[in-house]
Amino acid sequence: MPKIVKLSQNFNVLQFVSGEGLIKRPYRRNTNMQEENILIPEKPKLNRIRERIPKTDLTRVVIIGGGFGGIELVRQLSKQNVQTVLVDKHNYHSFIPLLYQVATAGLSPGDISSPLREFLQDNKNFHFRMAKVKSVDPEHKRVITSSGFLEYDKLVIATGSSTNFFNNEQLKKNAHKLREISDAIELRTKLINNFEEAIQADGDEELEKYMNIVIVGAGPTGVELAGAIGELRKHVLPKDYPELDFSKLKIWLVEGTDRVLPSMSERSGHRAKRYLKKFGVRLLLGKFVKSYDGELVTLSDKRTIQTQCLVWAAGVKPNNIKGLPEGSDVKGRIKVDDFNRVWGAKDIFAIGDVSYQESAKHPKGLPMLAPVAIQQAKRLSENLIAQIQGGEEKPFMYVDKGTMATIGRNKAVIDAPFGIRLGGFLGWFIWMFIHLFSIIGFRRKLLVFSQWIWNYFTYNRGNRLIIKKDLEDE
Ligand SMILES: Cc1cc2nc3c(=O)[nH]c(=O)nc-3n(C[C@H](O)[C@H](O)[C@H](O)COP(=O)(O)OP(=O)(O)OC[C@H]3O[C@@H](n4cnc5c(N)ncnc54)[C@H](O)[C@@H]3O)c2cc1C
Repeated sequence: MPKIVKLSQNFNVLQFVSGEGLIKRPYRRNTNMQEENILIPEKPKLNRIRERIPKTDLTRVVIIGGGFGGIELVRQLSKQNVQTVLVDKHNYHSFIPLLYQVATAGLSPGDISSPLREFLQDNKNFHFRMAKVKSVDPEHKRVITSSGFLEYDKLVIATGSSTNFFNNEQLKKNAHKLREISDAIELRTKLINNFEEAIQADGDEELEKYMNIVIVGAGPTGVELAGAIGELRKHVLPKDYPELDFSKLKIWLVEGTDRVLPSMSERSGHRAKRYLKKFGVRLLLGKFVKSYDGELVTLSDKRTIQTQCLVWAAGVKPNNIKGLPEGSDVKGRIKVDDFNRVWGAKDIFAIGDVSYQESAKHPKGLPMLAPVAIQQAKRLSENLIAQIQGGEEKPFMYVDKGTMATIGRNKAVIDAPFGIRLGGFLGWFIWMFIHLFSIIGFRRKLLVFSQWIWNYFTYNRGNRLIIKKDLEDE
């Protein structure tokens, strides 16, 4: 109910609850203004998120984010007697490591994405709500969302990370990114559309901007994307556009450090560099992008490249949530202890990319990788149950099972535990099976596997679709 409180001789305060929580709005008392004329809905329209989530005696665990960490937690808690509410701004989970294959027409979006409501099917205590979480109110144990607020007993923040353009608004506006399914579809559209425009280019000078593709960041995403575009150039595009000379298509990979795959071992970095060169990818190491206006890239050494397509794969930033205690923010990540408890907060936990957890091996925080999020979710589910049912909580310990990156068909590099370094066809074969095994659901595994087999033997990419509005509508 809206409430009007006298603040001073001249001011009143109007108090009401909205999707943002309790709002206090002071206003000047005015003889012309009738208080009863202020229209405040009894039940704010926005506060819908709680509808149809039953109030039970069960502990309510609210999880923000249905990424790798969030869905693993849902899976684990589905075996327990708790009420789980998952809130995500999307209604699906995506297998992010294969986004680059969607962007290069090797897979379709549905092959690597699963609806989050699939988890409902065998768990009556699980609820999903599609909403964007805006902030947390630890005092009242609520999350504030785009659809109202929701009470929790235990809250887990698993909001992951997003692309970091380092406050460069020009880049943000003109560059492509690769973090979500929609980014992959946009990039695929750009890449294929690029050649539809190239074939109609007026002379060699205009053609130039279509025949340069620039990828920034030689981490796993940049390297895998460069390799996949190299595949397209070699096997697919010349058949689709026989009137164009694809020996002139240049794939540039720009990296600020002096090596490829800086987060992996030197040996894997060298191997990847060799594979990329074989593929004809042009490496520009130790260079930064200064500007990109949508047509021209300028690098730190003043080199300029004309391009219609620049992909930014050079940084990620955590998706932090407002309202957490001061001091819990470490470079945008949420500081947690060994039990994933958020620093200074009660009953709030954070896992995955958004969390900042130090360990003896990782004094600057655990890496932003899917296995970290999954392992943290598994341990946290045990600890939550120990808290609810009584039992001993155990600290989290990250088990590093290695990292890998693939470069086109038949080539991959793997940094496995105990200093084992693999590459070439064996690396690629292992990469393929680990990724296939990690995709959710048997149907999707089968879909991806069959498409890979088809692509491998036919040298084809069947998803070369330009998905955008009718040209006349633009
Ligand atoms: C292109 C690319 C390739 C990668 N390849 C690999 C790889 O090969 N191997 C590997 O280990 N790691 C890889 N990673 C990293 C890996 O994807 C992340 O470490 C992992 O996704 C982290 O899991 P998470 O659960 O913390 O967050 P995510 O999986 O990012 O999930 C976060 C979820 O939170 C939701 N969300 C965010 N903010 C809000 C909000 N305010 N309200 C509601 N919902 C919200 C999002 O919609 C999303 O569903 C890659 C990353 C990228 C970008």
